[in-house]
Amino acid sequence: MKIGVPKEIKNNESRVGMTPAGVYELVKNGHSVYVQSTAGEGSGFFDKDYKKAGAIILDTIGQVYAISEMIVKVKEPVEQEYEMVQKGQILFTYFHFASSEALTKAMIKSGATCIAYETVEDEDGTLPLLTPMSEVAGRMAIQQGAKYLEKPVKGRGVLLGGVPGVAPGRVLVLGAGVVGIQAAKMAAGLGAHVTILDINMKRLRYVNDVMPPHVVTEFSNEFNIRKHIKTHDLIVGGVLLKGAKAPNLITRDMLKEMRPGTVIVDVAVDQGGCVETTRPTTHEDPVYIVDDVVHYTVANMPGAVPYTSTMALTNVTLPYVLKLANLGWEKACESDTSLQKGLNITDGQVVYKEIVEAFDWAG
Ligand code: NAD
Repeated sequence: MKIGVPKEIKNNESRVGMTPAGVYELVKNGHSVYVQSTAGEGSGFFDKDYKKAGAIILDTIGQVYAISEMIVKVKEPVEQEYEMVQKGQILFTYFHFASSEALTKAMIKSGATCIAYETVEDEDGTLPLLTPMSEVAGRMAIQQGAKYLEKPVKGRGVLLGGVPGVAPGRVLVLGAGVVGIQAAKMAAGLGAHVTILDINMKRLRYVNDVMPPHVVTEFSNEFNIRKHIKTHDLIVGGVLLKGAKAPNLITRDMLKEMRPGTVIVDVAVDQGGCVETTRPTTHEDPVYIVDDVVHYTVANMPGAVPYTSTMALTNVTLPYVLKLANLGWEKACESDTSLQKGLNITDGQVVYKEIVEAFDWAG
């Protein structure tokens, strides 16, 4: 199969859909890989690395779309790419169709087969192509939180690890899912005291089993949250109710009960956030202050560490890319129920229930 890797053109997106290691595997399996020149530069992979792995470098994005039977990307195509998508072409990338009517209509019109990373789903309900980005964001939450706790950027002036003779900082993690556990682990590694809350006892039992004793679990309810926000320096929001807006666990009035310079990193911002005062920010301007509480609410945190994020993403996408290339999408989906769930649009039809429900015309 001819596989194309275009350069991402979405604002501030430096990740790339395939690393040289992926090219190497595909070429080894008899496929041809066309990579747009400089597509990997933002993630630290250069044309010469792709060439060495067996790729053919093309100058323009138009050439990549024109020649490829399958396009492997990171983000959904932007408007200027809509016309480049070919009938019958496979597109394997993040789409988030339910949040964009224009994109959905454009991909229906294109006649392409769209397989969305975010809806590939394992039997236990986990989303294997979303998990690595939550892992990145969870770990980053502590890195960012530690930075914004510094006084020159209006934080409390607390060093998370403390020093001999001075108690460590205190980190409150809301949600013990992928983001929450990674955040707790990083904070614990720095020596901070960590309190982690969830409503799922299975998750709390797991955290209690695997984390060191300075990571304390408690059940998540308003009473406990109100108690802890007064004494914690950094609060990480990592809750998720699948397919729904995140619950407002921290309401506006609660900010007044926090100490000035407390930092909130609301990772759940992409689902509306679990703090009432959360609004999405960007890496250019990541924080704002409400009632002396610093809010870090970047909606695409992994974008700041494209090398790690690209590696983490492509580690999990490559087995599916190989399957799609070796078998074609129909047989690949037939043979793999997780991948089958990724099928969103094919041959001008929406075939994913939630997208049909999102748009009344899509049925
Ligand atoms: P997850 O499903 O693994 O974990 C969510 C956890 O929240 C679950 O354990 C669930 O029981 C818990 N929860 C639900 N309601 C709760 C409540 N009232 N109190 C406490 N816990 C509660 O999800 P995840 O992969 O960890 O993702 C968390 C959020 O982070 C999602 O909204 C995801 O989209 C977002 N995310 C954001 C970025 C970013 O760049 N900002 C990157 C990756 C993920």
